[in-house]
Amino acid sequence: MKQPVKPSDVSIRIGQQMTLTIRSLGINGEGIGYFKKKIVFVPGALPGEVVHAEITEVKDKYAAGRLLRVIERSQARTTPPCPVYESCGGCSLQHLDYQAQLLSKKELVVQSFQKYAGLQQPPVADTIGMDNPWGYRNKAQFQVGSKEGRLIAGLYQAGSHELVELQDCQIQHEATTAMVDAAKEVIEKLGIPIYDERKRKGIIRTIVARVAFATGETQLTLITATTEIPREKELILELRYRLPSLVSIVQNVNPQKTSLIFGDTTKVLWGKPTIAEKLGSLSFDLSARAFFQLNPEQTVKLYDQVKKAAGLTGTERVLDLYCGTGTIGLWLAPDAKEVRGIELIPEAVEDARRNAERNQISSASFHVGRAEVLMPKWAKEGIQADVVVVDPPRTGLEPALINALLQVKPQRIVYVSCNPSTLAKDVNRLLASYELQSVQPLDMFPHTPHVECIVLLTLRV
Ligand code: SAH
Repeated sequence: MKQPVKPSDVSIRIGQQMTLTIRSLGINGEGIGYFKKKIVFVPGALPGEVVHAEITEVKDKYAAGRLLRVIERSQARTTPPCPVYESCGGCSLQHLDYQAQLLSKKELVVQSFQKYAGLQQPPVADTIGMDNPWGYRNKAQFQVGSKEGRLIAGLYQAGSHELVELQDCQIQHEATTAMVDAAKEVIEKLGIPIYDERKRKGIIRTIVARVAFATGETQLTLITATTEIPREKELILELRYRLPSLVSIVQNVNPQKTSLIFGDTTKVLWGKPTIAEKLGSLSFDLSARAFFQLNPEQTVKLYDQVKKAAGLTGTERVLDLYCGTGTIGLWLAPDAKEVRGIELIPEAVEDARRNAERNQISSASFHVGRAEVLMPKWAKEGIQADVVVVDPPRTGLEPALINALLQVKPQRIVYVSCNPSTLAKDVNRLLASYELQSVQPLDMFPHTPHVECIVLLTLRV
């Protein structure tokens, strides 16, 4: 359906073809050009390029176009190695050389601070990248379906119900790929029915493969619509035979019509319930549903940057807000006097406590609650924080938490963010009492448009 054309938009219409000069990259990795001052997003186009595009969407504030032809090509353009690069859509920067990706992520962060924090020259460092930006993901969570009578596994295309088969996803660790391949083969060989969402019939819904980078242990989880799996014994034997690194086979049952992957019941079919993983000198036992960072190599760099920004001397009380399973707090604990974590989800807090125990760290405690409620409450009770680390979801900090920080006034705030826009907006408010010392972008997900930042703010005297 065509969009209604506003009077201000008479100069652009759907189907119109135009030549555009691409100025920058947007937050989803699209090229950004301007046509008569209107912003036009062109996925696949790169900064510095002149392209021919056809308009596919016209809105009040922007238009979007399909890339027809690159007229002047960027030197940073490369051929994406992935065969399903276009249909999958997960790695929307694969056509950009890796060093240029790192530069463009820094640029995105700079622009965000210019736009939302009014800082013309924000102190943004060069993006910390990976030496080998491939095979970095420790977990594959692939939906199962069928195509021309063949079992396939992959991801749904963004905004559609089309399952894109991922046979050799280059950002996955090879152990996860081997596990998905083996699971597919065995399920097919034994004739175990796959789940059909429309008919609500069948058994296997999702294959989840996870590898511990530090120990090589692997865990395979099959998410099923039914409690019973036919030929379960043979399934286990075949999987073990094909995958010597396997230490844990788990079944999770999800009978619901839902887009949620996991159901409520989890059962160990064979082996241990967990795999053993390490980050630096910390050890973790990961159960099938436990949250763990997806790129362990970069996570260590991220936490080291947090430690550097926190500037600990051993006497500080540190708050780890939005602490998840407590990994940042545990990372900092050896250099602090006390660490207190706050997290909304009780199961994550239980994991955090178990992780503290597992690593014999008694100076860290973890508390269920809302950061914006618990931190001011503690402050009233005289529990004052020297350093506060925040690592909120993409939506950023609650306004109430920003107010609480401005009242409680810790000496240092270390803000870990996966969204430069909400980060810059939140920092803008904290500038009322804080000085922005440094912004360190870090590439947690090479070839995708995501960028993490570690920001240090110090209290103004
Ligand atoms: N710091 C963790 C990851 C944090 S992800 C790590 O490094 O692994 C963000 C976390 O914030 C989620 O676990 C989410 O449950 C939690 N959360 C969201 N809103 C919150 C709130 N208002 N108070 C406390 N925790 C919150």
